[in-house]
Amino acid sequence: MAPSDTLTTEQQQIRELAREFAVNEIRPFTAEWDTRREFDSAVFRKLAELGFFGMTIPEEYGGLGLEFGTYLLALEELAWGDGSVALSVAIQNGPAAHFILAVGTDAQRREWLPRLASGDVLLAFALSEEQAGSDLAAIQTRAERTDRGWRIHGHKKWVTNGARAGVTVVFARTGEASRHGGISAFLVDPGAPGYRAGQRERTLGLRASETVAVELDGVEVTEDRLLGRPGAGFYYALRALDVGRVGIATQAVGIAQAAFDHAREYARGREQFGQTIASFEGIQFKLADMALRIASGRALAHEAARWVHREHTNAWDPDAGNGTSRGPSSLTTAAAIAKLAASEAAMWVTTNAVQIFGGYGYMRDYPVEKLMRDAKGTEIYEGTSEVLRLVIAREALRSGFAG
Ligand SMILES: Cc1cc2nc3c(=O)[nH]c(=O)nc-3n(C[C@H](O)[C@H](O)[C@H](O)COP(=O)(O)OP(=O)(O)OC[C@H]3O[C@@H](n4cnc5c(N)ncnc54)[C@H](O)[C@@H]3O)c2cc1C
Repeated sequence: MAPSDTLTTEQQQIRELAREFAVNEIRPFTAEWDTRREFDSAVFRKLAELGFFGMTIPEEYGGLGLEFGTYLLALEELAWGDGSVALSVAIQNGPAAHFILAVGTDAQRREWLPRLASGDVLLAFALSEEQAGSDLAAIQTRAERTDRGWRIHGHKKWVTNGARAGVTVVFARTGEASRHGGISAFLVDPGAPGYRAGQRERTLGLRASETVAVELDGVEVTEDRLLGRPGAGFYYALRALDVGRVGIATQAVGIAQAAFDHAREYARGREQFGQTIASFEGIQFKLADMALRIASGRALAHEAARWVHREHTNAWDPDAGNGTSRGPSSLTTAAAIAKLAASEAAMWVTTNAVQIFGGYGYMRDYPVEKLMRDAKGTEIYEGTSEVLRLVIAREALRSGFAG
């Protein structure tokens, strides 16, 4: 947690509000949601009432208009409460809000942003397919022109909020120009004929979060549902992932902080050999390394947040000259570093929290095994650790920024 005296009054207030919400409205139910594999819809309603779905959306569109770093303070607290809750909030405030703000038409902004901000509509992203995971340019879903717009056919995998969402951004191939150049993005109504959300996946962690396959069987969309320029979809997906990764880094920090807090408390109370296990240096070193990794992940996420702010508008323009060779301290690199560091920290911290709890840590009755399961997801979605290393290495080789 950042020291309070370095925060503005607004930042302290939003962080406290989110912590209070996590303590009262999330923590008491998180184990039950994990077992049942779903949230109570009441938690979404309450999140919406407090404005948590529109933290980064400008006030003119009904959001709170918070600066990205301020939003991260709240997101971390929600993730400390439950990683699945934080994932939905992160998608809405990160890639969803920024995508529509950056490339949407005036009409699209006016239609969608107030509904996202109020939580009336959750937005889902449908990028992944069976053969297109890390290699997003392998997308096979197709959109063909019709008199009124487009008709979409394809199969998407692992769409978070894919059944619950009020709108899904579907990436589909609209041309053969090139593997990367022929993809476009569409705002698709999940109620449209031909849109079918499959069964919920049975996931290792983040079990309350809804992950579904989506079948698109001739789904018709009108021209005004095309988001941004045709053929620029691959580029937009990368920009959306840049913003999204900063949120996932913070989700990971919140999960890790929760594991640390549990482990610290347990270590101070559990006695073996006539003393608390916290008095053993072997346990103290683990706690010290946990604190170190959490602080690093948090600092890197906030560093990347500054880039979100800076690059927000022109980075979404494929012709702005910053297409593939981006600066040494670009959002792309900063976000990859933050997500890689924070997600690996979360995995390490949660695994060691289980270790500090000993046999109890391995039991479902104690909170830390769930955190370990939740943490694993952050190393996979929105760019695996291997892909992030490739992104960072490419930049390091090009500009040597690490030196
Ligand atoms: C809980 C959850 C929620 C998700 N939500 C969404 C969502 O809302 N929308 C969506 O579109 N997708 C979503 N996904 C999908 C997610 O983004 C993909 O799983 C992820 O991008 C990896 O793709 P893949 O699973 O096909 O793995 P693959 O790409 O097949 O990778 C398999 C392994 O190979 C490695 N690998 C791949 N390429 C390279 C390379 N060039 N060099 C070195 N190693 C490599 C990977 O790192 C990984 O370890 C979600 C996934 C999960 C688990």
